Amino acid sequence: MDDASSGRAESPMILQPLWDHLKTHKEVLLSPYLPTLYAFVTHVLLCSPFLLLDALGCLCARVGSCRMSGRPGPGLLQKWLASFRRVILAYVLAVLPVTAALQCLRSPAFPEVAPSGLQLFAEVSACLLLFDMLFFIWHYIMHRVPWLYRNVHRAHHQNRSPFAMAAQDASPAELLSLLLLALLSARLLGCHPLSELLFHLLNSWLAVEDHCGYDLPWGLHQLLPGMGGAPHHQAHHIAQKGNYAPYFTHWDRLFGTRIL
Ligand SMILES: [Zn+2]
Ligand SMILES: [Zn+2]
Repeated sequence: MDDASSGRAESPMILQPLWDHLKTHKEVLLSPYLPTLYAFVTHVLLCSPFLLLDALGCLCARVGSCRMSGRPGPGLLQKWLASFRRVILAYVLAVLPVTAALQCLRSPAFPEVAPSGLQLFAEVSACLLLFDMLFFIWHYIMHRVPWLYRNVHRAHHQNRSPFAMAAQDASPAELLSLLLLALLSARLLGCHPLSELLFHLLNSWLAVEDHCGYDLPWGLHQLLPGMGGAPHHQAHHIAQKGNYAPYFTHWDRLFGTRIL
C-alpha cells in the first residue's frame, strides 16, 4: 500500500514520525500504570520551576514580592513538602488502583495516521472546553452540598494562598474524580491518542498555573481573552466560593458566580 492510499499523504510530516515512534512502544501506551505515572510525573515536573521560584522568593525580596499573596517564608517550603506527601498518598490510595483497572478494561485504537496540526488543535481545544464545563459543574456541586464539601473538597481548600503543588493537593476522592473527568472528556470527544496526551499535559500545566501564586506575564490568561489564570483561581481559594470554572471565565459570568 502506498502512502497516498494509506492516508499518510494527508498527514503532516511533523506529527507522523512522532506518532510512528510512539506506536513502536505500544506496551508503554497500554500499560495500566501509564495514566497514573503520566499525571504524577508531569505534575511534579511542571511544579518544579515554581518550587525554585518560591525558594528564591524566600531568599530574595524582589523575587518574593512577585507572589500575589506577598513574599513567601520558609513555612511555605514546609507546606510544599507536606502537600507532596498528601499527593503521593492520594495517588497510591485512589488514582493508581482505579485508573489501572480502567486501563485494563479499555481496548484503545492505534490509528495508522497521526492527526493533522489543525485536528490536534481542534481536539485539544474541545477537550479543554468540555473539561472546563464538567469541572465547573462538579466544583459548584461540591461547594453546594455540605457533605461533599466536608468529605471530598475541603481538603483542597486547606491552602488559602495556593502554590503550584496544591493543584493536586486534594482528597483522594477529589483527585480521582478530576482525573476521571479529564479521561472522560477525551473519550467522549473520540480524540486521537496524540491529542489526548497533549490535552492531559496542558491540563496539568493549566492546573499548576492556576495555583502557582504568580500572575505571570506569559500566563495563558494574559495571552488569551476569556481565561482566568492564577488571579481567578486564587480569588476562589481566598473567598472559598465563586470562580468555579478552572480555566475559562464564561461559565462563571453566565451563572453569576464570577468574583474578582
Ligand atoms: Zn484550587
Ligand atoms: Zn473550591
